Amino acid sequence: MSRLLFLFVVIAVVYWLLKSYRKQSPKQDVPTAASEDMVRCAQCGVHLPKSEATLSDGKHFCGEAHRREYESK
Ligand SMILES: [Zn+2]
Repeated sequence: MSRLLFLFVVIAVVYWLLKSYRKQSPKQDVPTAASEDMVRCAQCGVHLPKSEATLSDGKHFCGEAHRREYESK
């Protein structure tokens, strides 16, 4: 029985660690993104960090799909 309890505690700790780790992940944090250059998708107009944008022909896109969509026009 104590084994089961130990297993439960281990799972709870791992879950808690993953949760707190995700909280610190910079991808979801707005303050860290503020220091980065924001660019606008030429296809849909959404704003995103420059490092996550797809650059083509001097224009930025939110993804590969929108780059292709824009260029097929
Ligand atoms: Zn877009």
